[in-house]
Amino acid sequence: MIVPSLTQQDIDLMRDDTPGVRQLIHFNNAGTGLAPTPVLEAVKQHLDLEATLGGYEAAAAAKTAMDTFYTSLAALIGSKPQEIAYIENATRAWDMAFYGIDFREGDRVVTGRAEYVSNYVALLQMKRRKGIEIDIVEDDEFGQIDLEALKAAIGPKTRLIALTHVPTFSGLINPAEEVGEIARQTGVLYLLDACQSAGQIPLNVNEIGCHILSGTGRKYLRGPRGTGFLYVSDAVLDQVEPPFVDLQATEWIDEDRYELVPHARRFETWERYVAGQIGLGVAVSYAIGFGMERIGNRICGLGAQLRSELSALPEVTLHDKGQRKGGIVTFSLAGESPAQTKLRLGQAGINVSVSQASSARIDLPLRGLDAVVRASVHAFNCEEEIERFVKCLGSFR
Ligand SMILES: *Cc1c(COP(=O)(O)O)cnc(C)c1O
Repeated sequence: MIVPSLTQQDIDLMRDDTPGVRQLIHFNNAGTGLAPTPVLEAVKQHLDLEATLGGYEAAAAAKTAMDTFYTSLAALIGSKPQEIAYIENATRAWDMAFYGIDFREGDRVVTGRAEYVSNYVALLQMKRRKGIEIDIVEDDEFGQIDLEALKAAIGPKTRLIALTHVPTFSGLINPAEEVGEIARQTGVLYLLDACQSAGQIPLNVNEIGCHILSGTGRKYLRGPRGTGFLYVSDAVLDQVEPPFVDLQATEWIDEDRYELVPHARRFETWERYVAGQIGLGVAVSYAIGFGMERIGNRICGLGAQLRSELSALPEVTLHDKGQRKGGIVTFSLAGESPAQTKLRLGQAGINVSVSQASSARIDLPLRGLDAVVRASVHAFNCEEEIERFVKCLGSFR
């Protein structure tokens, strides 16, 4: 099988489009990806339009660009445009679906050790409010969600499988498709947090088999901050009632009645960061222009290279789990705290992040880890940056 990859020309073009690479090495794409020039231009242009025409008038003038957001996102994940909602971030996108499920006492939610902190605390809140039970499925020997254990955990009271595709604190890529197959067999609703996978690897909701998917704009998609999206399959619209409704989500009929608008836009609110919505649409088109399969192969390849070079440094311990790994590389250095490593790299013009146990209570502490350094590479990063990064890391004694 031929694995398509970005050409050198593609990579040069991407780097030319990314002003940040001229002054720093940005290995914090799991935090925020550096936005490419077409995204920056689209956002700035719309802000200028708002300043010169007025906000409502600018939105009317930019209707096509606003609509492109839906078709681009649909193309990215293989859905219909009507199944996409624009939401201000991935947390609220996930919430709009999760809090829309009519949980009853004793209902069970199945999740894994990769689950994102904000999702997990929402599960805890629902446990306190409604008396749901949370079933945490253990990892298999590779460190990904154990599929046999998942099957065994699903029973007649299971209402939801909540899975994080790629955790924020590890290189792991969870087997979302295999989980989808189990969801299909058992008929359980499947909510996938694709915050770190959207823009990092190809996604197709039909192949994955998830009913609901949430994502953010600012990470691997390289869109503006304060943007996100939600996919809700038409097939499960009747199982998820928007927890909040407004004039965008409904049609107000009379004193006693309203109707929800058809499709996923019932999860939106009317007021929004229009420039951000346009910018995220452009960011997604930009990624699709290069090809998500090519981008994904490039990112996973750079991640593997970084891991391999780090493993040659005696003071480095790698912490990534999983059979399949992506562009997030976690590690620690003997004799230096992750916070110190981040600070030292920052002084050398290299951006990384630190993942804390406080945001990964059902994973990092169980592995005896308080914190790990997180270096997350994107397709616009290059081999030479990896060399410089590894050299800088090794030079601390
Ligand atoms: C960042 C992140 C989120 C939250 O995204 P926001 O857009 O900040 O709300 C959710 N899940 C995962 C796995 C993340 O990494």
